Amino acid sequence: MSVLFETIELTKHFSIGKGQTVHAVDQVSLAIAEKEIVGLVGESGSGKSTFGMTALGLHDKTSGKVKFKGEDLPQKYQSRDFQKMATSMQMIFQDPYSSLNPRMTVGEIIGEGLKLHSSQSGTSIRERVAHWLEQVGLHPDHMSRYPHEFSGGQRQRIGIARALILEPEFVVCDEPISALDVSVQAQVVNLLGDLKEKMGLTLLFIAHDLSMVRYVSDRMAVMYLGSVVELGPADDVYFQPRHPYTEILVNSNPEPDPATEKQRTSTTIQGEIPSPVNVPQGCRFASRCPRVMEICREQTPSLIPLKELDRQVACHLY
Ligand code: SF4
Repeated sequence: MSVLFETIELTKHFSIGKGQTVHAVDQVSLAIAEKEIVGLVGESGSGKSTFGMTALGLHDKTSGKVKFKGEDLPQKYQSRDFQKMATSMQMIFQDPYSSLNPRMTVGEIIGEGLKLHSSQSGTSIRERVAHWLEQVGLHPDHMSRYPHEFSGGQRQRIGIARALILEPEFVVCDEPISALDVSVQAQVVNLLGDLKEKMGLTLLFIAHDLSMVRYVSDRMAVMYLGSVVELGPADDVYFQPRHPYTEILVNSNPEPDPATEKQRTSTTIQGEIPSPVNVPQGCRFASRCPRVMEICREQTPSLIPLKELDRQVACHLY
């Protein structure tokens, strides 16, 4: 299958004054094939959301390339060329409470993108909004209501309709279920899965819940302190992790089934994720790695393919 979306050594640093720089994302290369779902996991503070936002142009990148259908996205995201491409790439945000403007009706929120990016009349925009409300399991009458009149799960459905009304090909789902009650998380994931199939979407699914990511994704990328440390088929990475960080992440992830969770000996990751302002020399995971060696503190391991597996790992053990 051909590559639809690709980042090549994508880097995003933020200057925070006094000569200090936050290394939020460092040289991340990730190619996503047409109709593929790639899950991006890691602790909070690992740079997952910044990667998603920079890839879509919601932050200007520091360096590296972003390609969509083989074409470079312009360096300046405000340019007209970028705006044209941008309708094919959309984002579903984490927090359905703060990402919807409380002063706009649901119809205005969902139809805003069409109003900006198409020459459709008010009537046909309303018809599209009604269609998309139905697609996400809401009623066309909901169009005239305001976001505060809806539950968290319904607001996330509104966010999904807003992203998909432009009929994008590539969607970044940034922790789309983490702010929702457990009881509605599966409904939203299933809705995304159905719409993905119907529309032939390609997704980057960002989350910290590994079992959920394994469930929805074809491949899984594991991020630590701004870099990808392991990448491979989702089931393989989950059941046979190779990078010490992935191993601990998998072992510390709660099992969805309470009975299995009770019997399990879980491991927790020692220490805190280091500050992205003072990125350690060598392997970024060295300060917390139970298998650290001398070389780890001196040389940065590159993400390399493992011979025997369909897997890429950044670790001196391989
Ligand atoms: Fe651990 Fe060294 Fe591998 Fe880093 S490179 S994960 S410190 S063994």
